Amino acid sequence: MSTAVGRFAPTPSGRMHLGNAFAYLLAWLSARSAGGEIVLRMEDLDTLRCTDAFAEGIRRDLRWLGLDWDRETPPQKLRTEAYEAALEKLKSRANVFPCWCTRGSLNLVNAPHAADGHPIHPASCRLRSEEERRRMKGPPAWRLEAPDLTVGFTDGVYGPYEENLKTGCGDFVLRRADGVFVYQLAVVVDDGEAGVTQVVRGCDLLSSTPRQIYLGHLLGLPEMQYWHVPMLTDREGRKLSKRDAAMDLGQLRQTHRPEELVGLLAFRSGLIPREEAVSPRELLGEFRWDKLKKEDIVIL
Ligand code: GLU
Repeated sequence: MSTAVGRFAPTPSGRMHLGNAFAYLLAWLSARSAGGEIVLRMEDLDTLRCTDAFAEGIRRDLRWLGLDWDRETPPQKLRTEAYEAALEKLKSRANVFPCWCTRGSLNLVNAPHAADGHPIHPASCRLRSEEERRRMKGPPAWRLEAPDLTVGFTDGVYGPYEENLKTGCGDFVLRRADGVFVYQLAVVVDDGEAGVTQVVRGCDLLSSTPRQIYLGHLLGLPEMQYWHVPMLTDREGRKLSKRDAAMDLGQLRQTHRPEELVGLLAFRSGLIPREEAVSPRELLGEFRWDKLKKEDIVIL
């Protein structure tokens, strides 16, 4: 049987948040309980907001929590060539077309919207002739035509999930007009190259998964297993976010020991029956995915 390979894929645009720590704890337990390894990758495509100092802070916070990894692959800001090669491959295998739309021109009130509220891209750019394309000014973004195809998978937490790419998502961007590659492409290329077999992350990314599976399929990459984990919320059901400074590890490390935080997350999410201080390693023997609650986890 091949070895499980899990990953931590933080975005180093701030201090690690408790919600990220929860997803990494589960990624670690999932891979380690299967005798597998863990890869760390910094998702720093947004070079304006991401810094090496935040990346180092995240490594320190992971170690403090007791979450180790076996190797770190190059950060996304150094991977432009790999993404360019993938884009070229996609151009030869699907309809990838230049697009000059601006955000403003797309947010038209009457435009059809996908389930997550983003406007479905109109066919106007896709249908432009070569002649028209030559006359357009400025560098284009590159979009992939979403086929009329339903992509489904079985999530390890939420069960069967599917989306029709054409009606649920629409033609989507691979590279922005300013040359920056988007997360959806980078994550697929990087996970594929690192040999990742298990993706564990917040359930806010559940709806991105059909798109990523489709890109992986076009690029000839092996299929992966997915577990999307519940969000942490306050008592009113509000999702905790990076804006809740009290929930970042910079603050939490001043008031808690790592085992207390791990114990809190493990108890509230159903992994252990009572709240007690525990290390990730101590959770390993008892870890089973089916213990995890599927509802949002109230933390505050
Ligand atoms: N970089 C993303 C984050 O920090 C995670 C992306 C993923 O796990 O696919 O939220």
